[in-house]
Amino acid sequence: MATKKTILSITSSLFDSLATLKSVSSLTVPCYCLQPDTHNIQIHGFCDASIRAYSCSVYLRTQSSHGQVDVHLLTSKSRVAPVKKQSLPKLELCDDHLLACLYAKMKDIFSTGSVTTYFLTDSQLVLHWLQQYSITLSTFVGNRVSDIQALTVDKITGFELINVGDRLGFADLPGAQKHPILLPSTSQFVLNYVRYLHRRNYHAGSKALVALIRLEYWIVNDRDLTLRVVRSCVHCVRYKPVLAQQVIGPHPATRITLARPFERCGVDFCGPINIYLRIRGRAPTKSYLAVFVCFVTKAVLTEVVSDLSTHSFFNALKRMGGRRKLPCDIFCDNAINFVGASN
Ligand SMILES: [Zn+2]
Repeated sequence: MATKKTILSITSSLFDSLATLKSVSSLTVPCYCLQPDTHNIQIHGFCDASIRAYSCSVYLRTQSSHGQVDVHLLTSKSRVAPVKKQSLPKLELCDDHLLACLYAKMKDIFSTGSVTTYFLTDSQLVLHWLQQYSITLSTFVGNRVSDIQALTVDKITGFELINVGDRLGFADLPGAQKHPILLPSTSQFVLNYVRYLHRRNYHAGSKALVALIRLEYWIVNDRDLTLRVVRSCVHCVRYKPVLAQQVIGPHPATRITLARPFERCGVDFCGPINIYLRIRGRAPTKSYLAVFVCFVTKAVLTEVVSDLSTHSFFNALKRMGGRRKLPCDIFCDNAINFVGASN
Protein backbone atom coordinates (compact mmCIF):
# COMPACT_ATOMS: atom_id res chain seq x y z
CA MET A 1 0.00 0.00 0.00
CA ALA A 2 1.34 3.43 -0.92
CA THR A 3 1.78 5.78 1.99
CA LYS A 4 1.37 9.54 1.82
CA LYS A 5 5.12 9.94 1.98
CA THR A 6 5.88 7.75 -1.04
CA ILE A 7 3.15 9.44 -3.07
CA LEU A 8 4.61 12.86 -2.22
CA SER A 9 8.10 11.78 -3.20
CA ILE A 10 6.87 10.40 -6.54
CA THR A 11 4.90 13.59 -7.26
CA SER A 12 7.80 15.81 -6.37
CA SER A 13 10.14 13.82 -8.61
CA LEU A 14 7.68 14.21 -11.49
CA PHE A 15 6.97 17.89 -11.03
CA ASP A 16 10.36 18.97 -9.82
CA SER A 17 11.48 20.71 -12.93
CA LEU A 18 10.41 24.18 -13.94
CA ALA A 19 9.84 22.90 -17.43
CA THR A 20 6.94 20.82 -16.21
CA LEU A 21 5.39 23.80 -14.47
CA LYS A 22 5.31 25.63 -17.77
CA SER A 23 3.13 22.97 -19.36
CA VAL A 24 0.59 23.00 -16.49
CA SER A 25 -1.49 25.46 -18.49
CA SER A 26 -2.02 22.81 -21.16
CA LEU A 27 -3.02 20.09 -18.65
CA THR A 28 -6.66 19.03 -19.01
CA VAL A 29 -8.82 17.03 -16.67
CA PRO A 30 -11.97 15.59 -18.27
CA CYS A 31 -14.84 16.66 -16.00
CA TYR A 32 -17.70 16.06 -18.41
CA CYS A 33 -18.59 12.36 -18.26
CA LEU A 34 -21.46 12.31 -20.72
CA GLN A 35 -21.30 12.49 -24.49
CA PRO A 36 -23.03 15.25 -26.46
CA ASP A 37 -25.65 12.82 -27.79
CA THR A 38 -25.77 10.26 -24.98
CA HIS A 39 -28.73 7.97 -25.29
CA ASN A 40 -27.79 5.13 -22.96
CA ILE A 41 -26.39 5.61 -19.45
CA GLN A 42 -25.25 2.81 -17.19
CA ILE A 43 -23.92 3.12 -13.65
CA HIS A 44 -21.62 0.32 -12.52
CA GLY A 45 -20.71 0.12 -8.83
CA PHE A 46 -17.89 -2.13 -7.68
CA CYS A 47 -16.86 -2.91 -4.13
CA ASP A 48 -14.41 -5.20 -2.39
CA ALA A 49 -12.86 -5.70 1.01
CA SER A 50 -9.74 -7.04 2.63
CA ILE A 51 -8.88 -7.59 6.29
CA ARG A 52 -7.30 -4.11 6.46
CA ALA A 53 -9.55 -1.91 4.36
CA TYR A 54 -12.55 -1.81 2.09
CA SER A 55 -13.51 0.45 -0.78
CA CYS A 56 -15.93 1.00 -3.60
CA SER A 57 -15.98 2.81 -6.90
CA VAL A 58 -18.67 3.94 -9.30
CA TYR A 59 -18.13 4.04 -13.06
CA LEU A 60 -20.30 5.68 -15.67
CA ARG A 61 -20.72 4.01 -19.05
CA THR A 62 -22.30 6.09 -21.75
CA GLN A 63 -23.20 5.22 -25.29
CA SER A 64 -23.82 7.75 -28.02
CA SER A 65 -26.41 7.40 -30.74
CA HIS A 66 -23.56 6.36 -33.09
CA GLY A 67 -22.69 3.47 -30.78
CA GLN A 68 -19.53 5.03 -29.32
CA VAL A 69 -18.97 3.83 -25.74
CA ASP A 70 -17.19 5.90 -23.07
CA VAL A 71 -16.36 4.75 -19.55
CA HIS A 72 -15.41 7.18 -16.78
CA LEU A 73 -14.56 6.73 -13.15
CA LEU A 74 -17.22 8.85 -11.47
CA THR A 75 -16.37 8.59 -7.81
CA SER A 76 -14.87 6.26 -5.24
CA LYS A 77 -14.51 5.89 -1.51
CA SER A 78 -12.39 3.81 0.85
CA ARG A 79 -12.34 3.09 4.55
CA VAL A 80 -9.88 1.46 6.91
CA ALA A 81 -11.28 -1.68 8.55
CA PRO A 82 -12.64 -1.18 12.09
CA VAL A 83 -10.20 -1.63 15.00
CA LYS A 84 -12.48 -4.32 16.40
CA LYS A 85 -11.72 -7.29 14.21
CA GLN A 86 -14.58 -8.33 11.95
CA SER A 87 -14.92 -11.40 9.77
CA LEU A 88 -14.32 -10.97 6.04
CA PRO A 89 -17.99 -11.45 5.06
CA LYS A 90 -18.95 -8.66 7.49
CA LEU A 91 -16.29 -6.40 5.97
CA GLU A 92 -17.66 -7.29 2.53
CA LEU A 93 -21.07 -6.21 3.80
CA CYS A 94 -19.53 -2.95 5.05
CA ASP A 95 -18.14 -2.18 1.61
CA ASP A 96 -21.54 -2.92 0.04
CA HIS A 97 -23.03 -0.52 2.55
CA LEU A 98 -20.45 2.11 1.63
CA LEU A 99 -21.29 1.66 -2.05
CA ALA A 100 -25.02 1.97 -1.34
CA CYS A 101 -24.43 5.23 0.59
CA LEU A 102 -22.26 6.59 -2.21
CA TYR A 103 -24.87 5.64 -4.80
CA ALA A 104 -27.66 7.23 -2.77
CA LYS A 105 -25.75 10.53 -2.72
CA MET A 106 -25.20 10.64 -6.47
CA LYS A 107 -28.24 8.91 -7.94
CA ASP A 108 -30.30 12.13 -7.99
CA ILE A 109 -27.87 13.61 -10.54
CA PHE A 110 -29.15 11.09 -13.05
CA SER A 111 -32.77 11.18 -11.97
CA THR A 112 -33.85 12.37 -15.40
CA GLY A 113 -33.71 9.92 -18.29
CA SER A 114 -33.35 6.17 -18.08
CA VAL A 115 -30.31 4.94 -16.17
CA THR A 116 -29.53 1.30 -15.64
CA THR A 117 -27.64 0.56 -12.45
CA TYR A 118 -25.49 -2.47 -11.69
CA PHE A 119 -23.81 -3.30 -8.39
CA LEU A 120 -21.09 -5.90 -8.37
CA THR A 121 -19.72 -7.78 -5.41
CA ASP A 122 -17.83 -11.07 -5.24
CA SER A 123 -19.29 -12.17 -1.93
CA GLN A 124 -21.93 -14.88 -2.28
CA LEU A 125 -22.79 -14.60 1.39
CA VAL A 126 -23.55 -10.88 1.14
CA LEU A 127 -25.75 -11.53 -1.90
CA HIS A 128 -27.61 -14.12 0.15
CA TRP A 129 -28.03 -11.74 3.09
CA LEU A 130 -29.41 -9.05 0.82
CA GLN A 131 -32.22 -11.38 -0.22
CA GLN A 132 -33.34 -11.97 3.37
CA TYR A 133 -35.65 -9.98 5.61
CA SER A 134 -33.32 -7.90 7.78
CA ILE A 135 -35.33 -8.89 10.86
CA THR A 136 -34.16 -12.49 10.53
CA LEU A 137 -30.46 -11.54 10.65
CA SER A 138 -28.13 -10.54 13.48
CA THR A 139 -28.13 -6.86 14.55
CA PHE A 140 -24.85 -5.96 12.80
CA VAL A 141 -25.80 -7.63 9.52
CA GLY A 142 -29.53 -6.79 9.71
CA ASN A 143 -28.99 -3.03 10.18
CA ARG A 144 -26.70 -2.80 7.17
CA VAL A 145 -28.86 -5.05 5.01
CA SER A 146 -31.97 -2.95 5.65
CA ASP A 147 -29.97 0.21 4.91
CA ILE A 148 -28.68 -1.21 1.62
CA GLN A 149 -32.16 -2.41 0.64
CA ALA A 150 -33.61 1.03 1.36
CA LEU A 151 -30.81 3.00 -0.35
CA THR A 152 -30.72 1.01 -3.56
CA VAL A 153 -34.46 0.88 -4.24
CA ASP A 154 -35.11 2.88 -7.41
CA LYS A 155 -37.91 5.33 -7.45
CA ILE A 156 -40.92 4.00 -9.34
CA THR A 157 -41.95 6.60 -11.83
CA GLY A 158 -44.71 6.66 -14.38
CA PHE A 159 -47.18 4.75 -12.15
CA GLU A 160 -49.93 5.95 -9.93
CA LEU A 161 -49.80 3.73 -6.84
CA ILE A 162 -52.99 3.32 -4.87
CA ASN A 163 -52.72 2.66 -1.14
CA VAL A 164 -55.40 0.71 0.64
CA GLY A 165 -57.33 1.31 3.84
CA ASP A 166 -57.37 3.75 6.69
CA ARG A 167 -58.98 1.71 9.44
CA LEU A 168 -55.58 0.67 10.85
CA GLY A 169 -54.45 4.30 10.87
CA PHE A 170 -53.92 4.37 14.64
CA ALA A 171 -52.32 0.91 14.88
CA ASP A 172 -48.73 0.59 16.03
CA LEU A 173 -47.62 -0.89 12.69
CA PRO A 174 -45.18 0.14 9.95
CA GLY A 175 -46.66 2.57 7.41
CA ALA A 176 -46.48 0.06 4.55
CA GLN A 177 -48.54 -2.44 6.53
CA LYS A 178 -51.17 0.12 7.49
CA HIS A 179 -51.56 1.35 3.93
CA PRO A 180 -50.46 -1.48 1.61
CA ILE A 181 -50.10 -0.78 -2.10
CA LEU A 182 -52.94 -2.16 -4.21
CA LEU A 183 -51.81 -4.58 -6.92
CA PRO A 184 -53.75 -6.60 -9.50
CA SER A 185 -53.54 -10.39 -9.32
CA THR A 186 -53.50 -10.80 -13.11
CA SER A 187 -50.14 -9.11 -13.69
CA GLN A 188 -47.16 -11.28 -14.59
CA PHE A 189 -44.96 -9.12 -12.36
CA VAL A 190 -47.19 -9.78 -9.35
CA LEU A 191 -47.19 -13.51 -10.11
CA ASN A 192 -43.38 -13.49 -10.26
CA TYR A 193 -43.23 -11.56 -7.00
CA VAL A 194 -45.42 -14.10 -5.20
CA ARG A 195 -43.35 -16.98 -6.62
CA TYR A 196 -40.21 -15.23 -5.38
CA LEU A 197 -41.74 -14.79 -1.90
CA HIS A 198 -42.72 -18.47 -1.89
CA ARG A 199 -39.19 -19.63 -2.68
CA ARG A 200 -37.45 -17.15 -0.42
CA ASN A 201 -39.53 -18.20 2.56
CA TYR A 202 -38.63 -21.86 2.16
CA HIS A 203 -41.72 -22.78 0.10
CA ALA A 204 -44.22 -21.18 2.44
CA GLY A 205 -47.84 -22.32 2.24
CA SER A 206 -50.62 -20.20 0.79
CA LYS A 207 -51.82 -18.71 4.10
CA ALA A 208 -48.29 -17.75 5.15
CA LEU A 209 -47.81 -16.16 1.72
CA VAL A 210 -50.95 -14.06 2.13
CA ALA A 211 -49.65 -12.82 5.49
CA LEU A 212 -46.23 -12.00 3.98
CA ILE A 213 -47.73 -10.17 1.00
CA ARG A 214 -49.94 -8.03 3.28
CA LEU A 215 -46.90 -6.67 5.09
CA GLU A 216 -46.43 -4.41 2.08
CA TYR A 217 -48.99 -5.04 -0.65
CA TRP A 218 -52.66 -5.75 -1.06
CA ILE A 219 -53.15 -8.04 -4.02
CA VAL A 220 -56.74 -8.38 -5.22
CA ASN A 221 -57.80 -12.02 -4.83
CA ASP A 222 -54.53 -12.88 -3.12
CA ARG A 223 -55.79 -16.16 -1.62
CA ASP A 224 -56.48 -17.61 -5.07
CA LEU A 225 -53.16 -16.36 -6.38
CA THR A 226 -51.10 -17.81 -3.53
CA LEU A 227 -52.92 -21.14 -3.78
CA ARG A 228 -52.16 -21.19 -7.52
CA VAL A 229 -48.49 -20.44 -6.88
CA VAL A 230 -48.14 -23.18 -4.25
CA ARG A 231 -49.96 -25.74 -6.40
CA SER A 232 -47.87 -24.94 -9.46
CA CYS A 233 -44.53 -25.14 -7.60
CA VAL A 234 -42.74 -28.25 -8.87
CA HIS A 235 -40.73 -28.59 -5.67
CA CYS A 236 -43.81 -28.44 -3.44
CA VAL A 237 -45.78 -30.92 -5.55
CA ARG A 238 -42.90 -33.38 -5.70
CA TYR A 239 -42.20 -33.35 -1.98
CA LYS A 240 -45.80 -33.09 -0.79
CA PRO A 241 -45.97 -35.56 2.10
CA VAL A 242 -48.65 -38.26 2.10
CA LEU A 243 -50.51 -37.83 5.37
CA ALA A 244 -51.01 -40.96 7.49
CA GLN A 245 -54.65 -41.97 7.74
CA GLN A 246 -56.08 -43.38 10.94
CA VAL A 247 -57.48 -46.87 10.42
CA ILE A 248 -60.98 -46.82 11.88
CA GLY A 249 -62.59 -50.13 12.93
CA PRO A 250 -66.32 -50.96 12.87
CA HIS A 251 -68.53 -49.82 15.76
CA PRO A 252 -69.10 -52.36 18.57
CA ALA A 253 -72.57 -53.96 18.60
CA THR A 254 -73.53 -52.20 21.85
CA ARG A 255 -73.33 -48.82 20.16
CA ILE A 256 -75.48 -49.56 17.15
CA THR A 257 -78.24 -51.70 18.77
CA LEU A 258 -81.49 -49.90 19.58
CA ALA A 259 -81.87 -49.36 23.36
CA ARG A 260 -83.35 -46.91 25.86
CA PRO A 261 -81.06 -44.05 26.95
CA PHE A 262 -78.31 -45.09 29.38
CA GLU A 263 -79.12 -48.81 29.05
CA ARG A 264 -75.55 -49.24 27.92
CA CYS A 265 -73.21 -46.49 28.95
CA GLY A 266 -69.63 -45.64 29.68
CA VAL A 267 -68.43 -44.01 32.87
CA ASP A 268 -65.36 -42.08 33.91
CA PHE A 269 -64.38 -39.54 36.54
CA CYS A 270 -63.16 -36.03 35.92
CA GLY A 271 -61.71 -33.61 38.40
CA PRO A 272 -60.79 -32.92 41.10
CA ILE A 273 -62.93 -29.82 41.46
CA ASN A 274 -63.11 -27.60 44.57
CA ILE A 275 -66.48 -27.34 46.25
CA TYR A 276 -66.96 -24.31 48.51
CA LEU A 277 -69.38 -24.76 51.38
CA ARG A 278 -69.81 -21.03 51.86
CA ILE A 279 -68.84 -21.32 55.51
CA ARG A 280 -66.37 -18.69 56.62
CA GLY A 281 -62.92 -20.12 57.32
CA ARG A 282 -63.80 -23.53 55.92
CA ALA A 283 -61.39 -24.79 53.25
CA PRO A 284 -62.98 -26.03 50.01
CA THR A 285 -63.42 -29.79 49.73
CA LYS A 286 -62.12 -31.77 46.82
CA SER A 287 -64.77 -33.55 44.75
CA TYR A 288 -65.05 -35.35 41.44
CA LEU A 289 -67.60 -35.68 38.70
CA ALA A 290 -68.80 -39.08 37.49
CA VAL A 291 -69.60 -38.70 33.78
CA PHE A 292 -71.99 -41.24 32.30
CA VAL A 293 -72.17 -41.28 28.50
CA CYS A 294 -74.94 -43.20 26.78
CA PHE A 295 -73.52 -45.42 24.04
CA VAL A 296 -76.56 -45.18 21.80
CA THR A 297 -77.74 -41.59 22.13
CA LYS A 298 -74.44 -39.92 23.21
CA ALA A 299 -76.40 -38.26 26.04
CA VAL A 300 -74.28 -37.21 29.01
CA LEU A 301 -75.21 -37.33 32.71
CA THR A 302 -72.98 -36.04 35.50
CA GLU A 303 -73.08 -36.80 39.21
CA VAL A 304 -70.96 -35.18 41.93
CA VAL A 305 -68.82 -37.70 43.84
CA SER A 306 -67.23 -36.75 47.14
CA ASP A 307 -64.13 -38.95 46.78
CA LEU A 308 -62.60 -41.78 44.73
CA SER A 309 -63.88 -44.62 46.94
CA THR A 310 -66.08 -47.51 45.77
CA HIS A 311 -68.76 -46.44 48.24
CA SER A 312 -69.05 -42.93 46.78
CA PHE A 313 -69.26 -44.33 43.28
CA PHE A 314 -72.07 -46.65 44.36
CA ASN A 315 -74.01 -43.70 45.72
CA ALA A 316 -73.53 -41.82 42.46
CA LEU A 317 -74.66 -44.87 40.51
CA LYS A 318 -77.75 -45.17 42.67
CA ARG A 319 -78.63 -41.53 42.09
CA MET A 320 -78.09 -42.03 38.38
CA GLY A 321 -80.25 -45.19 38.43
CA GLY A 322 -82.96 -43.31 40.29
CA ARG A 323 -83.14 -40.75 37.53
CA ARG A 324 -82.57 -42.90 34.43
CA LYS A 325 -83.10 -46.54 35.50
CA LEU A 326 -80.05 -48.66 36.20
CA PRO A 327 -77.99 -49.56 33.11
CA CYS A 328 -77.51 -53.18 31.95
CA ASP A 329 -73.89 -52.70 30.83
CA ILE A 330 -71.41 -50.16 32.09
CA PHE A 331 -68.05 -49.75 30.38
CA CYS A 332 -65.16 -48.14 32.21
CA ASP A 333 -61.36 -47.87 32.20
CA ASN A 334 -60.96 -50.47 35.04
CA ALA A 335 -60.15 -47.88 37.74
CA ILE A 336 -59.99 -49.41 41.25
CA ASN A 337 -63.26 -47.94 42.46
CA PHE A 338 -65.13 -49.25 39.40
CA VAL A 339 -63.61 -52.71 39.79
CA GLY A 340 -64.53 -52.63 43.50
CA ALA A 341 -68.09 -51.65 42.59
CA SER A 342 -68.43 -54.48 40.05
CA ASN A 343 -67.27 -57.01 42.65
ZN1 LIG B 1 -42.70 -24.52 -3.38
